[in-house]
Amino acid sequence: MVKLGFLGLGIMGSAMARNLLHAGFDLTVWNRDREKMAPLTEAGAKPAESPADVASTCDITIAMVSNPEASHAIAFGKDGVIEGLSQGKGYVEMSTIDPQTSHAIAKAVRAKDARYLEAPVSGSKKPAEDATLVLLAAGDHALYDEMKEAFEAIGKLTVYLGEVGQGSAMKLVVNMIMGGMMAAFCEGIALAQANHLAPEDLFAVLDAGATANPMFRLKGPMIEQEQFSPSFPLQHMQKDLRLALALGEICALPLPTIAAANAQFLRARGMGLETLDFSAVWKAIQTVKP
Ligand code: NAP
Repeated sequence: MVKLGFLGLGIMGSAMARNLLHAGFDLTVWNRDREKMAPLTEAGAKPAESPADVASTCDITIAMVSNPEASHAIAFGKDGVIEGLSQGKGYVEMSTIDPQTSHAIAKAVRAKDARYLEAPVSGSKKPAEDATLVLLAAGDHALYDEMKEAFEAIGKLTVYLGEVGQGSAMKLVVNMIMGGMMAAFCEGIALAQANHLAPEDLFAVLDAGATANPMFRLKGPMIEQEQFSPSFPLQHMQKDLRLALALGEICALPLPTIAAANAQFLRARGMGLETLDFSAVWKAIQTVKP
């Protein structure tokens, strides 16, 4: 069986790596904070010293880190993935990053005669644990085919979208919509409360009509109880809105609704809420009385 490496054992990466282990893959792991490697190595994964160590000892290396800066650091930094790659090896970047960063990494990977695929995911902590993520793949098709079994171990659906950048762009479009929905949801709750309407009545009405969706159903009670244990950290949602707005700029699309949602998430970051769940944007929105 193919030897897989996994870089980045945060909320998503740790669950995805565990599912690869459960599926029987020979798995090597690395995380910047070494303490997060212990649960995986205790479950049978091999520890590695660096991203280069993973890339040189494994056939295919997967990355799942915070943002473009982190993806760049593990690829191009000292003892990074590019140093460890050689002819025929594969690199699968699953972090949510912008198409430009993905292109830059792809170019460096190909310069080593290795292969590159991007495959950001839709779905959060629970889908990662339940292996029901949706994978948005683009890039080397042969590598995509080789990853079929591994992708099946972590997701319920994989779509192949074409050239490098297409998966990243699709992911930013999806999350931009989700961020806008969350900001509108919180503003709706605030306006309902200001008019002496109970949030649970609002949730019931939303859920009975065309506005029904799993996100409102899941996050509504979290907002009502102000329980913001992170499934999707707020700082990552704000990063995705920032990257979507930048992509819009490249396409001369102003995206004013998303710019306004981004301002709410920025306010939340300024309040120190960045490591809470992204639904904590509520705390920034509720402070602004209508
Ligand atoms: P997370 O829990 O915050 O984990 C982030 C990971 O990135 C950690 O392993 C962290 O290492 C690593 N990292 C950050 N900066 C680094 C650097 N400079 N060098 C090396 N490693 C670095 O994030 P997550 O929720 O798992 O999300 C990971 C990615 O998936 C993000 O791109 C996010 O947007 C995307 N995503 C998340 C969700 C979700 O619901 N959570 C859903 C879909 C997509 P340390 O442990 O050392 O800090």
